[in-house]
Amino acid sequence: MSDNTERFSQNVPGKYYVAKVCIACSLCSEISPEHFAENLDEDIPVGNCYVCKQPENEDEESLCREAMETCPAGAIRDDGNE
Ligand code: SF4
Repeated sequence: MSDNTERFSQNVPGKYYVAKVCIACSLCSEISPEHFAENLDEDIPVGNCYVCKQPENEDEESLCREAMETCPAGAIRDDGNE
């Protein structure tokens, strides 16, 4: 059985991460391109998004939460670790 909490290796350290259930719709990178980027590495299935920057203030936190709540795959997670 696959572990649906498994993270993409490209996620930067921090509480937000994208799990490997992402369906590559790119909604999160449209909502907050500063925090979510599309994987362009040809060695990994292209198109998934990952967290490229953790939020550093309340406005950024709101954007990340909006992306998390909007993600149709429930792939954006908050593990609570700072
Ligand atoms: S919104 Fe969710 S499913 Fe869509 S690209 Fe971002 S993490 Fe993946």
